[in-house]
Amino acid sequence: MAVAGAERFKNYIGGEWVDASGGETFESLIPATGEPIGEFPRSTPEDVDRAVAAAKEAFESWRLVPAPKRAEILYRFAAHLVRHKDDLTDLMSREMGKVKAEAGGDVQEAIDMTLYMAGEGRRLFGQTTPSELPDKFQMSVRMPVGVVGVITPWNFPIAIPSWKIAPALVCGNTVVFKPAEDTPLLAERFVELLADAGLPPGVVNVVHGFGEEVGEAIVKHPDVPVITFTGSRETGVRVTKAAADQLKVVHLELGGKNAIIVMEDANLDLAVDGIVWSAFGTSGQRCTAASRVIVHQKIYGEVEKRLVSAAERMRLGPGWEDQTDLGPVINRAAIEKIHSYTGIGKDEGATLLTGGEPASGDGLDDGFYYRPTIFGDVAPDMRIAQEEIFGPTTALIPVKDFDEAIRVANDVKYGLSSSIFTQDVNRAFRAMRDLQTGITYINAGTTGAEVHLPFGGTKDTGNGHREAGQAALDVFTEWKSLYIDYSGKLQRAQIDNAEE
Ligand code: ADP
Repeated sequence: MAVAGAERFKNYIGGEWVDASGGETFESLIPATGEPIGEFPRSTPEDVDRAVAAAKEAFESWRLVPAPKRAEILYRFAAHLVRHKDDLTDLMSREMGKVKAEAGGDVQEAIDMTLYMAGEGRRLFGQTTPSELPDKFQMSVRMPVGVVGVITPWNFPIAIPSWKIAPALVCGNTVVFKPAEDTPLLAERFVELLADAGLPPGVVNVVHGFGEEVGEAIVKHPDVPVITFTGSRETGVRVTKAAADQLKVVHLELGGKNAIIVMEDANLDLAVDGIVWSAFGTSGQRCTAASRVIVHQKIYGEVEKRLVSAAERMRLGPGWEDQTDLGPVINRAAIEKIHSYTGIGKDEGATLLTGGEPASGDGLDDGFYYRPTIFGDVAPDMRIAQEEIFGPTTALIPVKDFDEAIRVANDVKYGLSSSIFTQDVNRAFRAMRDLQTGITYINAGTTGAEVHLPFGGTKDTGNGHREAGQAALDVFTEWKSLYIDYSGKLQRAQIDNAEE
């Protein structure tokens, strides 16, 4: 078993910890300091072939393990996560950078999802229906599909793998997992705990490495019929194209340009708390982050003033320090991307109210820190109000009434999360009906999904599939309809029925 804290880590294939076939490695860095946290195999398509072969072989016996028994392993895994929650939280604040309260939430989400999906081991319900013919029985059952390719991002490094791997396993599939190259150590720990829970060799395999080398090889592999991917829209399109020739099931969870609407009757204390949490939590690196705030013009000045003051009070620092409000962003490239959008916003004529630069001094110089950034007087069609920035930047957009607020909220290509702060129940219900997103919150920010409801979005946020809840099972199973005729004679559906 690999040991967290050691210098060099391995892939996990067929129950063995192994180096990449080419022997190359890459480093994972601590975003708060820029220092390496470990060295990982830079795998090749050859490693993917091995992992898929192991998963394919393991599938033949894993699919026959009764689902409640598969679930028992997940229950044990959840118990390991509970036992190791503090170490995983601390490790996440180092390797990924988010503050401890959020890192603990990330681990908790994985515990909740694993328990929920373990419960499916005794459900996985199908349907029975009456037959149109006498002495005939019929039902539908969920069947496992085979080897699932799991490709994850770095922003929820324990939660997102659990959202994909727990349902895939309880449904009877095996897994080849390629974690994000920025958080491989957390993935390593995740899989160690799964192995310790008693998962048979080959049921879950990890192949570390880069998207274009390892991720793409998984997506194109003929023995991987299902791909579940969370990441950027651009990569999601590439994945879809690469999988198209083989008509694979591709589940996509992509970007967002989520809006919070604040009406003139809103409880402003609550709204400001919700905006700060949704815009700057995880340093804005959540697909559900509130990167737009649509504010009724009557209260616009007040909201702007309160938000700027809240952003300027935020203390930047390493995620593991208790007093930190805002941790670093993931890497140097992220700083450059976020800063380029600050330039774009200024050029477009938006008013930079606060932030707008990398943070330095006070021990922050070696880390990847960006000041919480708010643009005011943003027009809905500006690029900073249309494109996903994935950093601590939000855009305030004034509107004159509710209808304009809904129109502006919907006028983006993404459709993940939305929220409205209002005391008016009629408006709240209209917003629930009219906001074109997969998730809508009333009097709460744009984040806070729970594991037993579907998670995912409309428009370019995905391709119609959902994670979490019962909906997730549709990605990881195929429906099979079964007809059992006990009449002892040939009965022909539709034909015999029509003649009678
Ligand atoms: P982000 O910009 O948030 O890192 P990406 O979409 O680039 O998002 O990455 C999400 C995951 O997809 C990562 O694990 C990454 O390695 C992987 N990935 C990147 N490019 C590809 C690709 N062409 N095919 C498959 N996976 C990829």
